[in-house]
Amino acid sequence: MTNMDLRGKKVLVVGLARTGLAAVNFLLEKGARVVVTDLKERSELAEFVDRLKPGATLRLGEHRDGDFNSAELIVLSPGVPRDLPLLRSAAERGAAVWSEVELAYRFIEGRVLGVTGSNGKTTTTALIGEIFKAAGRPHTVAGNIGLPLISQVHHSHPDHTFIVELSSFQLEAIECFRCQVSLFLNLSADHLDRHASLEAYGEAKANIFRNQLVEDFAVVNADDPLVLKMARGRARRVLFSRRRPLPEGICVEDGQVWARIGGDSTPVIGTRSIRLRGLHNLENVLAATAAGWLSGIDPESMAKAFREFAGVEHRLEFVASLDGVDFYNDSKATNVDAALTAIRSFRRPLLMIMGGLEKGGDFRLLEPEVRRCVRKLFLIGEAAERIEGELGRAVPSRRASSLEEAVTLAFAEAGDGEVVLLAPGCASFDMFDNYEHRGRVFKRIVSSLKSTEGAAR
Ligand code: ADP
Repeated sequence: MTNMDLRGKKVLVVGLARTGLAAVNFLLEKGARVVVTDLKERSELAEFVDRLKPGATLRLGEHRDGDFNSAELIVLSPGVPRDLPLLRSAAERGAAVWSEVELAYRFIEGRVLGVTGSNGKTTTTALIGEIFKAAGRPHTVAGNIGLPLISQVHHSHPDHTFIVELSSFQLEAIECFRCQVSLFLNLSADHLDRHASLEAYGEAKANIFRNQLVEDFAVVNADDPLVLKMARGRARRVLFSRRRPLPEGICVEDGQVWARIGGDSTPVIGTRSIRLRGLHNLENVLAATAAGWLSGIDPESMAKAFREFAGVEHRLEFVASLDGVDFYNDSKATNVDAALTAIRSFRRPLLMIMGGLEKGGDFRLLEPEVRRCVRKLFLIGEAAERIEGELGRAVPSRRASSLEEAVTLAFAEAGDGEVVLLAPGCASFDMFDNYEHRGRVFKRIVSSLKSTEGAAR
């Protein structure tokens, strides 16, 4: 299957951002005749257009029927829905419609380890990368995590492992893409705006199992009934559970993470030694343990990675400690579910910064946890009023006109041993470019705060 011949092939790449750019340049190198199309105007795409190799036809600011109709192969960027009418008719006419990971797969030699699910993909993918690093095993971390797989195929080697984060959109358009080890972490209702139903969204993710063979492994969360239901295919199933001990699989018992596979039962690490905080991250550790074990990595290397890995930026990221107050950046908590996970990760009183652009979630779902652990809310952005309306009876709140004001006010009220937490539960686009920008601004503000020890705050 590797190294298919692309010379002279008419290929259309849909979407020109980081991934589209990498796909176009790869295809040109392989001698394909490439058209790249994006609904955005050239001026908005300048940073990508500037890095294109010469030779591709640019069709920007529009999609043309003719481009779709004449292509033999259509390659989709991760954000492009598979069910665009133009794509459907091209597929009916016989064109292959692939996500970029499918194209990359055709040129990969080595093992592929794929991670999907609603939450925790990036953290788990990065964690598995750390395990491979600790064990000194050749690997590349790629995919939805920010590095297109197609830009990494030159690492191909029989001993190389590609650790790939996969979104449901990428999995919708695969044909042969096969993982030796696939991981399906969980399934919740985020992204329903893009998929017709939870069922359809789950089905797209379950595609990760489709091409697996009997000698492959499917790692699934035994605590998530929806995931269990979706997990089918030929691969051997390996369960992980945070909630109950398993006779076979990865689980927690007596404060230890256990790997019990093929009659073996090995303690990997005491849960207290894991650096990442929160029960959700324990689940990510269990999934990563399965991946490591099935890749033949020794428990000591896994334990080292779990002791040392501090997490991915903007995901419950510890920022600083000032006058006994700890600051955490969870800017990636862009929906109510993730904000809930964030609160649940703490046992100390929180001064919590929320708000931004709301995504239609129900903030009242946070009420029990807010009552348990949040001392005061500081609200920013367009959603401030709504959050105040839905949680104002459960906890004192105060509005702020900027993130800077919110941080300053929270710090002024925080006492020794308390936590200032940014977990907005909202998108960022009303005030920032994206969640990364919001997180970086938060960290900058925190680093400019001055100790007021000695003075009354
Ligand atoms: P993804 O790549 O799937 O979006 P991330 O690792 O970036 O996942 O984490 C996104 C947010 O989801 C985090 O801020 C955290 O609050 C939450 N999260 C992480 N892991 C899990 C998990 N296993 N279950 C539920 N929520 C999680």
